Amino acid sequence: MSASNQEYIVISGARENNLKNVSLRIPKRKITIFTGVSGSGKSSIVFDTIAAESTRLLNENFSMFVRTFLPKVPQPEADGIENLSMAVIVDQKRLGGGSHSTMGTITDISPILRLLFSRAGQPYVGPANMFSFNDPQGMCPECNGIGRSMIVNMSRAVDMSKSLNEGAIMLPDYKVGGWEINMILQSGSFDVDKKLSDYSSEELEQLLYGKARKVEMEFAGKAMNITVEGVIEKFTNKYIKRDVKTMSDRTQQAVAPFIIEGSCSSCHGARLSQASLSCRINGHNIAELSAMEVGQLIRVVREIADPVAAPVIKSLTERLQHLVDIGLDYLTLDRETDTLSGGESQRVKMVKHLSGSLVDVTYIFDEPSVGLHPRDVHRLNELLQKLRDKGNTVIVVEHDPDVIKVADHIVDVGPHAGSRGGNIVFEGSYEGLLESGTLTGNHMKRPLQLKQESRKPSGKLSVKNATLHNLENVSVDIPTGILTVVTGVAGSGKSTLINDVFLSQHSDAIVIDQSAIGVSSRSNPATYTGIMDDVRKAFASANKVNQGLFSFNSKGACENCQGQGVVSIDLSFLDSVDLPCEVCGGRRFKEEVLEYKLNGKSIADVLEMTVEQALEFFELKEVVRKLQAMSDVGLTYITLGQPMSTLSGGECQRIKLASELHKKGSIYVMDEPTTGLHMSDIAHLLAIMNRLVDAGNTVIVIEHNLEVISQADWIIDMGPDGGSRGGQLVFEGTPTQITDAKDSITGKYLQ
Ligand code: ADP
Ligand code: ADP
Ligand code: ZN
Ligand code: ZN
Repeated sequence: MSASNQEYIVISGARENNLKNVSLRIPKRKITIFTGVSGSGKSSIVFDTIAAESTRLLNENFSMFVRTFLPKVPQPEADGIENLSMAVIVDQKRLGGGSHSTMGTITDISPILRLLFSRAGQPYVGPANMFSFNDPQGMCPECNGIGRSMIVNMSRAVDMSKSLNEGAIMLPDYKVGGWEINMILQSGSFDVDKKLSDYSSEELEQLLYGKARKVEMEFAGKAMNITVEGVIEKFTNKYIKRDVKTMSDRTQQAVAPFIIEGSCSSCHGARLSQASLSCRINGHNIAELSAMEVGQLIRVVREIADPVAAPVIKSLTERLQHLVDIGLDYLTLDRETDTLSGGESQRVKMVKHLSGSLVDVTYIFDEPSVGLHPRDVHRLNELLQKLRDKGNTVIVVEHDPDVIKVADHIVDVGPHAGSRGGNIVFEGSYEGLLESGTLTGNHMKRPLQLKQESRKPSGKLSVKNATLHNLENVSVDIPTGILTVVTGVAGSGKSTLINDVFLSQHSDAIVIDQSAIGVSSRSNPATYTGIMDDVRKAFASANKVNQGLFSFNSKGACENCQGQGVVSIDLSFLDSVDLPCEVCGGRRFKEEVLEYKLNGKSIADVLEMTVEQALEFFELKEVVRKLQAMSDVGLTYITLGQPMSTLSGGECQRIKLASELHKKGSIYVMDEPTTGLHMSDIAHLLAIMNRLVDAGNTVIVIEHNLEVISQADWIIDMGPDGGSRGGQLVFEGTPTQITDAKDSITGKYLQ
């Protein structure tokens, strides 16, 4: 191998999925961006060829003994892949991990903060462990460091608009005329005819939370000492602090509606013991710092002037700065990672790698611009450049023109999707791409056009006084019968407004997201859209046999693989691997079933057809309508039998859209539908949205993509910034109006 080749990852004759003998060189220690329409083969090169080979090589480093336990990662379909370094994939898979995984723990910032408190906290307390809610020394003993516990659902338990005599207390033991309520009346401490809303705060405190005390009362002429206790206090001690298993089923059922999960009553959600919470630096305890937005936290940390802690402060500010740099300054360290969006998760993972010391690694990113407003894309670019400048090879699959601009090298895959793609149509510089005449090049040159004539709404859906996360009393009207785009920088409150508030109030809305449609391992586009039912009937009547024969889970299915086409091999402590079924060769049906033909094709032949081929083959009205809908959303290239699990998020979303295209009068909500879509696919998507609107539906889209925003009938812009500096309605109006709106960052970028 020549020395110059060492500077490149060299791939020759790659044939995974739709790739047509692709050969290319990827410069090392540079940023290479792969682009091209959805389904063109970008992932087949980057993930199924490059990343897969890297994993295989890594496994080969293990001894023969260990390797017998590792899944046999098959060699990717290619003639050669040379000069690979270790690959790290930074994807958008959400960070799971339950309540013990937070932004702080996942970025390794929390341990440093604990170290800081153990060095500089007052009063001096003890080891860093004392400040960890994952450690028995530090966790709140009441909630075991979870920060939440079961509490009384106050809105169900107490009706403030009534008096005690009118039944203000709605808990099971407090029926008017019953023992508990009579005790309260007899105690003489409370005005039984006054509405609770007219009680003073002391009276209310005493009634609801008063500690147990003895009161002398008269019963049947005899004086008795009776214990009286606050209503909520008593209920909590009697039913919540007790092991539910010791209560009868009836009691459990009676009290269950009055109990909800809420902030722990001891630590108030801080998760830590009282001892660690009493330790402070410049007046703040560790829980307060963890609940602070990173942008503010970094300023507070910089102000700590303690020479002993100086090295800790330095490493803390360094890491916090990475979070600020990537545009996550609106998040808090105590934020649970499973509430982060896909884009946020990916950026958090990125920060972890920036702080690490690996060099000569191949970093692979899958659309890192997801969730970022155009204003913040430059931050992402700087991060990619930093990784490169540390001596790493950076490979990015991306559609955003502003990210594509920073590439040292661009690979454009196409020209189209599926079988009409799988080639490299351009390799070279950004300037070269603009002049290449490819779909990507041409789209990058086109100027943005603002929609001039907005549709008139047919009505409106109101959100009133929304107060959640960072939203403060937001009221907004969402017009019906038109296309509304909700926009704003990341963290401004778009998802909170639409996904959390609006959807909970308008439960009839239909959400079209990119989540996988994994009904079962046997589902595919034919079964999902219902085409398979009609196809089975057609086969049955053409051959005068039972239609059940043509189902994957019937007698007609291959017995070896139960109609799956693949056999899963379980490897006790590793992911299982799928191997093609040896009996049916992946065709999924028994030999005798494949003998039955419809116009010369077997059921397996039909499942191997692309949507495009099936449109030519079928004449059945219902089947053609469903196929046409799939074709309309740009899915001409997928095969009817392709397992749903191999479809990308964008493809799943479009299949869902396809099955909605014939409806009228519905409300559709889509969260960043352009994810995974090439500029030319976006035109397609817009056409579908417009078709839905023209058929009388309401479409509400959360988007940063300027192309989509520019084509809205109505724009709702949240902001002005992220986190506590956001949460307000900055602008509502049409695309031609937003460019004049002074406070709208989005407006500036549309100009
Ligand atoms: P891109 O990343 O450019 O969107 P992909 O590389 O994911 O494109 O897909 C290229 C083609 O290969 C598409 O037609 C896709 O449906 C098909 N494909 C991808 N993965 C599989 C798979 N596991 N089995 C069969 N076909 C696949
Ligand atoms: P956008 O959709 O505009 O990116 P979000 O609605 O996701 O913004 O977030 C708005 C604010 O609410 C941010 O400060 C974010 O950190 C916070 N937030 C969002 N989801 C949660 C959650 N589940 N728990 C706590 N805070 C949240
Ligand atoms: Zn607690
Ligand atoms: Zn089989």
